[in-house]
Amino acid sequence: MSAAALEVENLTVRYGGVCAVQSVSFTVPAGGCLGIIGANGAGKTSTLKAVLGLVPRTVGALRVGGQDVSRVKARDMVRHGIGYVPEGRHVFAGLSVETNLMLGAYAQKWNAATRGQLEEVFALFPVLREMRGRLAGALSGGQQQMLAIGRALMSRPKLLLLDEPSMGLSPKLVEEILAALQRLSADGLSLLLVEQNAKLTFEATDSCLVMENGATAMTGTSGELRHDARVRRVYLGL
Ligand code: ATP
Repeated sequence: MSAAALEVENLTVRYGGVCAVQSVSFTVPAGGCLGIIGANGAGKTSTLKAVLGLVPRTVGALRVGGQDVSRVKARDMVRHGIGYVPEGRHVFAGLSVETNLMLGAYAQKWNAATRGQLEEVFALFPVLREMRGRLAGALSGGQQQMLAIGRALMSRPKLLLLDEPSMGLSPKLVEEILAALQRLSADGLSLLLVEQNAKLTFEATDSCLVMENGATAMTGTSGELRHDARVRRVYLGL
């Protein structure tokens, strides 16, 4: 059996006196897709940033593909096969779509493999091919989200971390993002998806962790959780 894509044991994040994440543990199986859902302020973004080493944290164990990465600096995580799509997209508005994508491959030489990866991104999001010469800042919110995902894919990650990719998008665009995530997952990419949109997350993932006040409130398969009475009331508004 191949090692898990990501193993996190007892992750804690404190900002001064605020405990934003409290002893959270989870595993993303190789080729699997794990969701973290929770309300605004539950600690989801802090969890992702702490995995990457972007915020101060304590962690019992942190392994990527079975390898200890607890001492790896945030800027080197890309070399361990982790791609990151931050909340709010953060594309380079003054640069072209194509340049944004090329910057996603900054840790590699530009060669046949990276050109092939660019073609894969264009196949996943054909609108980016059409807009390749346009400034990223001129794209719609949904197109910018596709660009942010495409840019993260350019480093040819084994594991992709996504922070609220559905935020601010219309239901139709949310469906497009969902379809792209399902395709990436079918191609064997491991995914960790952080979302307030529980409906999307249950459709995109195999299993989920529900965060409340920085702690793990529930875990289960996405199929089980979507039928749980409390989850339906609190997170699906049913
Ligand atoms: P959102 O959906 O708004 O992104 P979230 O679930 O991702 O919410 P976090 O952004 O991780 O939650 O925030 C968790 C808690 O930590 C909140 O109480 C938040 O106010 C606090 N927090 C986040 N970042 C900081 C910071 N840099 N300094 C102090 N407190 C912070």
